[in-house]
Amino acid sequence: METLNTLVYFLILLVPVTIVGFIVVYGKGIYRQLNLKKMPDNRRIILNSDVKYYIILTEKNKRLFESSVERFLATCKFTGVDTTVTEKDRVLVAASAIIPVFSYPEWEYSVLNEVIIYPDNFNEEFETTGPDRFFRGLVGFGFLEGKLLISRTALYEGFDDFSDARNTCIHEFIHLIDKEDGEVDGIPKALLDKKFLIPWMFIMNKEIRKIKDGKSDIHPYATKNAAEFFSVSCEYFFERPDELKLKHPELYRFMKNIFEQHPTA
Ligand SMILES: [Zn+2]
Repeated sequence: METLNTLVYFLILLVPVTIVGFIVVYGKGIYRQLNLKKMPDNRRIILNSDVKYYIILTEKNKRLFESSVERFLATCKFTGVDTTVTEKDRVLVAASAIIPVFSYPEWEYSVLNEVIIYPDNFNEEFETTGPDRFFRGLVGFGFLEGKLLISRTALYEGFDDFSDARNTCIHEFIHLIDKEDGEVDGIPKALLDKKFLIPWMFIMNKEIRKIKDGKSDIHPYATKNAAEFFSVSCEYFFERPDELKLKHPELYRFMKNIFEQHPTA
């Protein structure tokens, strides 16, 4: 009887120990097998509390996302203007960079070398106080080549509310993706198969016409030019995919092909 009890206790202990052991070994295995970079807990906490896109990923995809964020942060320089860059700034910018290219693990933003954080929206003179502070973010040209400027207010607002289909920082990274082929023209040749270039231009023109005619819920800023149409539509795709699919099915299909993502699934 004594021996039987000992055996039962042993088995009761063995099961959880085996499960925990499997999780530890398997977890390490994933990092090794996929050559993943490990994310520190303080950054993971920020992703878990602020990035809806990350929160709904499977556990395996969460590890992949974290690794991509770490790779981005390891190579990108951050500078604060009249402010100190925080860990939340870094993580939210990196999440904005990774969300559009999550299906392209080898992707690198070759046209970016520095992210500049402003404490708030800024004006043409890059001032964060006073009137006419219409700029929430921008991709630099000329003397600002290789730089992405972002207002912290806009960065945080983009992740606070997913229902508005607006996310300034994702918008700016879409311009950088567009720029990879040398032109910011709304045609992301780096991701779009050649055979879809003409159909994509056709869809863009059709959707821009609908916005101008007041028959679309896509933000009117998208009518400024094809590049802005692409960035604004992408914000919609990553923030309200269900609605985009319902109201603009052709556009949704193209976005799905370009980014190789199916966010409504
Ligand atoms: Zn823009």
